[in-house]
Amino acid sequence: MTLQSVLPGLPVLPDPATETVLASGLLEELSYAFGGPFHVLLPDAFDTNLAALRAVLTEAGVDGQVYFAKKANKAAVWVERCAEGGAGVDVASTGELREALGHGVRGEDLVVTGPVKSTELLRLAVRHGALIAVDALDELDTVVMTALNGRSRPARVLLRALPTGQPHSRFGLTGDELGLALQRSARAGKALRMEGFSFHLSGYDLTARAELAARLVRLCRQARALGLTADRISIGGGLPISYTDAESWRAFLAAQHSGHYHAGKSFTEADFYPYHSPVSGAGALRALLAARPDGQQQTLAELLRDSDTALLLEPGRALLDRAGATVFAIQGVKERDGYLLLTVDGTSLSLSEQWFASEYLPDPWLLSPDGGAAPGLHRAAVGAATCLESDLVSWRKIGFLQRPRAGDLLVYPNTAGYQMDSNESSFHDLPLPPKVVVDRTERPRPRWRLDRHFL
Ligand SMILES: *Cc1c(COP(=O)(O)O)cnc(C)c1O
Repeated sequence: MTLQSVLPGLPVLPDPATETVLASGLLEELSYAFGGPFHVLLPDAFDTNLAALRAVLTEAGVDGQVYFAKKANKAAVWVERCAEGGAGVDVASTGELREALGHGVRGEDLVVTGPVKSTELLRLAVRHGALIAVDALDELDTVVMTALNGRSRPARVLLRALPTGQPHSRFGLTGDELGLALQRSARAGKALRMEGFSFHLSGYDLTARAELAARLVRLCRQARALGLTADRISIGGGLPISYTDAESWRAFLAAQHSGHYHAGKSFTEADFYPYHSPVSGAGALRALLAARPDGQQQTLAELLRDSDTALLLEPGRALLDRAGATVFAIQGVKERDGYLLLTVDGTSLSLSEQWFASEYLPDPWLLSPDGGAAPGLHRAAVGAATCLESDLVSWRKIGFLQRPRAGDLLVYPNTAGYQMDSNESSFHDLPLPPKVVVDRTERPRPRWRLDRHFL
C-alpha cells in the first residue's frame, strides 16, 4: 500500500543532490544554528539548468542568449553563476540592476524589462549598455531623450509586443503602436540601436509562444527594411517545469476535494500551477524550436536561422528547478477532527503560492533529529507562526508515515523558483529566513556559506 493510494499527495521527482543534503545531517545542524526557518540554495542545479538550455540552442543551430529573470529569487548566488557562466540577467528595477552589476554581470549582459521604467533606471541602463525592452511609445521617447542627454552611447532597445492572444494584457505595444515605434526608431538615428522585439506571455502554452515568435521574426524583417538592426527577438520567460511525475499529478487532481484540506478549503485545477508538464525546462525549449508556427513551412528554429535572428530567453523558474529547498521546524502539534494541525516557526510568506489563493503542493519531507516516532499514517495540515487565521504553509492534510513531533523539521522541496522570497517580510518582527548556499564539492560532507545578498 502506498501513501498515495490512501491520501492524494504530490511526491517530487527524484533529486539526488537534495537527497544527499537531506541525508547529511546538515539541515538539523543549520536549524539549530539559526533557530528559525531558512532556505537552502543549490547553485550546481542552476548551472546544470543553464547548460541544458544552452545545449538546446546549440543543437538547434540557433544563436541565442539566456537571461536569468532575477525576480524569481533575490539571492546573489544566481547572479554570480550568471556572471561565471556567461549568462545575462533580466532586471526590472534599479535595485535589481545594482545587484546584478554588483555581483559581477556586465551592463551589456542585462536586459531591462518591466512596465514603466524610472528615469534613473533608464539613465543607468543606457550608460551601462543594457538592452531595454520598451513597453510604450512615451517610454521610447524618454529612452531617446536619455541617450541624447547622456552623450555617451546609443540606447539599445527591443520593442515589446502586445500578444495577439492576450489583447487585455497591460504590457506591450499594439500593432499600430509598433508601426509608430519603428518610424520613431528610424528617425532617432544614432541615439538608438533598435535590436529587435520581445514578448512575455503569462501561462505556459508553447503553441502561442511559437506563433508570437514567428510574428516577431517577420517584424524584424520589416524593421531591417527601414535600416534598423533588428537581429534578435526575446520570448520572455514561462518555460514550465515539472515538480512531479505525470501519474501522480493526474491521480492527485482526480482525487482531491475539500475534505483533504484544513477548514474545508477547496481548490480546482485552475487554482494550481501545473505541477507536471509533458515537456518542461530545456525540453520545452526544444519543443518550441521544433514547432511549426501556424501557416509556416518551417520550424521556429529554421525561421530564426534563415533570417539570422538570435533568440533571447528570460527564464526564471526553469533555471531554478531543483536549486533549493525551504526548512521549517515544527513548534507545536494539535489534534483536530481526525487530523493534526502542526505549527511551524516560519510564515506562509515564504511560500508565495499561498498568497495567490493557491497552494504549494509538492510533499514536504519530515526529518526527525531525535529519531522517528511511532510509524503509521498521520495526516497533518501545517499552520504558520503568525496570528493570522489564514496563515497556513499547507492547507492540505499531508500524509506522513510517522507522527510529526515538535522539534522535527519540515523540508519543502524545489522552492527556489518564486517560493522563497517574493513575498517575505518581517511580519511580527520575525527575522527574514537566511539563505544558505550549499556548494557540493567532491567532499563527503556538503560545504555551506551564507548567500551574499544581505552581506
Ligand atoms: C516574470 C518574467 C519572466 C520570467 O518568467 P518565468 O515564468 O519565471 O520564466 C521573464 N520575462 C519577463 C518580462 C517577466 O515579467
